[in-house]
Amino acid sequence: MEKLYNFINGEFVPPNSNQYLDVYEPATGQVYAQVSDSNSDDVEQAYQSAQSAFKNWSGLSVKDRANYLYKIADGIESRLDELAEYESRDTGKPISLAMSVDIPRAVSNFRFFADYGQSFNFEQELTSEVSFNKINRSPMGVVGCISPWNLPLYLFSWKIAPALIAGNTVIAKPSEITPYTAFKLGEICKDAGLPPGVLNIIHGQGNTAGDALVSHPKIKAISFTGGTATGKLISNKTASSFKKLSLEMGGKNPAVIFADCDYMKMLDTVVRSSFSNQGQICLCSSRILIEESIFEKFIKDFVQRVSELKVGDPSIKETQLGALTSKGHFEKVLDYISIAKQEGGKVLTGGNAIKISGRCGTGWFVEPTIIAGLGNSCRTNQEEIFGPLVTLQSFQSENEAIQLANKTEYGLSATIWTEDNEKANRVSVQIDAGVIWVNCWLVRDLRTPFGGMKQSGLGREGGEEALRFFTEPKNICTLV
Ligand code: NAD
Repeated sequence: MEKLYNFINGEFVPPNSNQYLDVYEPATGQVYAQVSDSNSDDVEQAYQSAQSAFKNWSGLSVKDRANYLYKIADGIESRLDELAEYESRDTGKPISLAMSVDIPRAVSNFRFFADYGQSFNFEQELTSEVSFNKINRSPMGVVGCISPWNLPLYLFSWKIAPALIAGNTVIAKPSEITPYTAFKLGEICKDAGLPPGVLNIIHGQGNTAGDALVSHPKIKAISFTGGTATGKLISNKTASSFKKLSLEMGGKNPAVIFADCDYMKMLDTVVRSSFSNQGQICLCSSRILIEESIFEKFIKDFVQRVSELKVGDPSIKETQLGALTSKGHFEKVLDYISIAKQEGGKVLTGGNAIKISGRCGTGWFVEPTIIAGLGNSCRTNQEEIFGPLVTLQSFQSENEAIQLANKTEYGLSATIWTEDNEKANRVSVQIDAGVIWVNCWLVRDLRTPFGGMKQSGLGREGGEEALRFFTEPKNICTLV
């Protein structure tokens, strides 16, 4: 069986423990590879390699570093079909999604930060009547990047690219559940001639490899994306060392639908925003709030559209929903369907695991599920489920919609559907979320700040925010 080694100092090396974790194909429930189960010795080895590479890498011009990033982007792009197949096999997501979103976005992440880094002010000068201030933004040193399983290469590269262009050297840990494309990124970096030690990829579990990265006394910053509970652990663990943290965490995102929206455009997009990647995108809508006057019509149309979604083998081009990414997560989603029923929810469509015929007979598939009849304060409407399950609630006024949208401990994103621009502006300002989409969803300009409020995030990623995070400013002041 294929073994996925760590990538340290430009070489693939087995873990010091010689222990491995099984890697499953969610669509079949079968093991297809084994990944390094790394520990603090591997993280230390990666640290030594990253530390040795730091002086030369940070000494390059931004343009020279950008050239390496362009080569990595080209390498990913030239292997798009192959990487999309790997991503689909590893996560259970439809191949069409991996081809059109995951892998192209990984290419864009490297290209974007290569471009953006060259226009970013790493140096700035400010003069007043009395002083001349020269502000330098230097790389932090060795930094850690930790990413989750839902958008593996997409989110992995979203952290690595800004860290590298800013001049840091990196130890990155992908999710142990979906390590395959991160493993392949090592090959791509080697082919691109990235100097050894600049990017080190350590595989393994959160509470061992991840914990060693977070606890390492010399790693200056951690950029993390994952669950809120893990983010809290990391925050507690690093508090006394004052490590710089960027935490992108969970969500419970509302879609707020007013009667005066462009109905068909809304319907198409809300189906997508609810069930793309089996609802396993942190930005997916999970609480659909609908104005009372169109509630019944929406229920009828939405249920019909969702019940027509094609769930099946993710390697088939026509499949719209694939498998849930792990057995544990599959069971969690089914548990939440039971909880929703116990709370008095009515299942309007879906609600069950599905058996797919053929090679996917033992895979982890769940029907896209719509539940109505629940109040906003129940567990189903408050806890992040992160699967193909949405709830419907009605509202009577703009004010009630805003209150419902905000009654959650999360604040990652929201979508608002109305053709009334003034209303859209009023509501956007009052909803507590880091990203608000008006009459659209998942449209991204990579320069804009990305991240959540409340329990959804600390700090922001994207453009300038990411380059500020991965640098340390120093002001040198002299008298004029
Ligand atoms: P997770 O928190 O279980 O794991 C995320 C990463 O952290 C993995 O690499 C894991 O190995 C590592 N990890 C786990 N415990 C750790 C520890 N003690 N110390 C250091 N690292 C540790 O999350 P997940 O289940 O992989 O991903 C799903 C979650 O990610 C959902 O909550 C989702 O909303 C969130 N997410 C958020 C965003 C965002 O941008 N806000 C994007 C995608 C996913």
